[in-house]
Amino acid sequence: MSSTAGQVIRCKAAVSWEAGKPLVIEQVEVAPPQKMEVRLKILFTSLCHTDLHFWEAKGQSPLFPRIFGHEAGGIVESVGEGVTDLKPGDHVLPVFTGECKECRHCKSAESNMCETLRINTERGVMLSDGKSRFSKNGQPIYHFVGTSTFSEYTVVHVGCVAKINPAAPLDKVCVLSCGISTGLGATMNVAKPTKGSSVAIFGLGAVGLAAAEGARICGASRIIGIDLNSNRFDAARKFGLTEFVNPKDHDKPVQEVIAEMTDGGVDRSIECTGNINAMISAFECVHDGWGVAVLVGVPNKDDAFKTHPLNVLNERTLKGTFFGNFKPRSDIPAVVEKYMNKELELDKFITHTVPFSDINKAFDYMVRGEGLRCIIDMGK
Ligand code: NAD
Ligand code: ZN
Repeated sequence: MSSTAGQVIRCKAAVSWEAGKPLVIEQVEVAPPQKMEVRLKILFTSLCHTDLHFWEAKGQSPLFPRIFGHEAGGIVESVGEGVTDLKPGDHVLPVFTGECKECRHCKSAESNMCETLRINTERGVMLSDGKSRFSKNGQPIYHFVGTSTFSEYTVVHVGCVAKINPAAPLDKVCVLSCGISTGLGATMNVAKPTKGSSVAIFGLGAVGLAAAEGARICGASRIIGIDLNSNRFDAARKFGLTEFVNPKDHDKPVQEVIAEMTDGGVDRSIECTGNINAMISAFECVHDGWGVAVLVGVPNKDDAFKTHPLNVLNERTLKGTFFGNFKPRSDIPAVVEKYMNKELELDKFITHTVPFSDINKAFDYMVRGEGLRCIIDMGK
């Protein structure tokens, strides 16, 4: 037992008080974990576009003050009642969508949309008692997607925690807690391109480049990257992309450009932008008869997907995925092993590191479209 077990922990957290305003490092209180919960010491976290999206309050109802963060690595500090498969000292990756292992989804080989623990961006409290575990001077601070990793300590449901090899470096494998697993899985588990096929990737941030990595592993022969920011193209060459299209360089819709390049359309496309127009283009650029498009990006609150029904009748398939269809507890430890066995490279996704006190710099990099993942070192 750690000496802090059962006690309130006072620690630093980056609190978002208002939409789009810089986070403020505050001294907060973190309550002990309740039934089926664990308290984690976060060692490294990184910024994913989904944090930025909800911080800017572009998705669903804004909920503030809130502690964002969902891509992270840490160590179990203490466990609540009923927790048997985790103990203090275990190395873990928290995940924004959970796995109870008991519901129809968890028992289905096709779904990772756990009935109780699936992603919920509107809820800012813990499931068991509808309360927050974070407070400052008695004022509750909301959680984000059940993880809230922009805090030295956080409380999460045991079903949202993947226990991993303790030898895995947390400053690297933390990116598997969201973005990289999501992109890889979107291609390998959902789009499933065959050897020799063509794949279009919309959005060349870390998620899109991980999707490209998945296409390379599946043996795709043409991997076409589409981004509005041409600075992305240089870095993308390291990820096996073979061709690039900037929609701004063309005076016709990008789906038409891609159809011309590929004799009617790509075999698979994966959308990793969160932009509704890119989602529609990603669907309309797949070949009729067999093409499959997969949506990964998180849309804005009032977005609506519009396409002519004939695009579907012509035997195109539209799919979507959270977390690349990986089941967090069952599948993620094996993805970490792929990194340990050098089958998967993570270092090339990590372009910046900042101390926790400079967390707002990570937001600046992402807003400016600079770099891929910025690791936030909680110990500095
Ligand atoms: P990022 O900001 O690093 O990269 C996004 C890229 O998309 C940028 O390079 C940007 O220039 C490009 N882009 C934006 N609009 C575009 C358009 N219309 N056409 C072409 N390119 C465009 O973001 P990221 O962290 O890689 O995340 C990508 C998306 O995936 C975000 O929407 C994020 O919320 C979402 N996401 C979803 C899941 C999931 O489980 N479904 C998980 C993680 C992230
Ligand atoms: Zn994410």
